[in-house]
Amino acid sequence: MRIILMGPPGAGKGTQADVIKAELNVPHISTGDMFRKAVTEGTPLGLEAKSYMEKGQLVPDSVTIGIVKERLSQADCQKGFLLDGFPRTIPQADALAKTLQELGIKLDAVINVVVEREALVARLTGRRVCKSCGATYHMLFNPSKTGEKCEVCGGELYQRNDDTLATVANRLDVYDKQTAPLIEYYRKKGCLIEIDGDKAVAEVTQNIMEALKRG
Ligand SMILES: [Zn+2]
Repeated sequence: MRIILMGPPGAGKGTQADVIKAELNVPHISTGDMFRKAVTEGTPLGLEAKSYMEKGQLVPDSVTIGIVKERLSQADCQKGFLLDGFPRTIPQADALAKTLQELGIKLDAVINVVVEREALVARLTGRRVCKSCGATYHMLFNPSKTGEKCEVCGGELYQRNDDTLATVANRLDVYDKQTAPLIEYYRKKGCLIEIDGDKAVAEVTQNIMEALKRG
């Protein structure tokens, strides 16, 4: 099966991707991994991407889509793939559609893992770290049994800058602005599957697999 996996930060996309790729026996293709691979292998596009990244610039779509095309042309993608983190924008989605057409590939489904913003915020801001020993906790998923203190050493727990409400809200805003239009884009194409991600991990997985079987 050829699948795109979408969902906001904190929706548990990575966890689901691990299970889906094993269940369907297809490679999990994330943009990060794809870039790293192209750079390591020193392909012309990989080197081009590297030159942008070294300057701290965004890699242009023309380069990114080229790397995606190279990756999707490889032998292990013949049986299918799970594309994760790409496309992020409408122009990228258009470029991907063109590329798939050139490769003679039809997309089977776009899975969107949906979680309410409030729940995402709670998930993404819940991490706490011990100042003394570095042990990590999560207010929802793994709270310290001793409340505000570290269970291991009694140290004080704090919130990293990446996990503060302001940072998290900004990440979610960027996602909404860039990527939400894609949901409509794929809905119109008739290949969107929306899955409630605010459930236990195994239940979400089961719902995804059942929806894929229904097609
Ligand atoms: Zn500690």
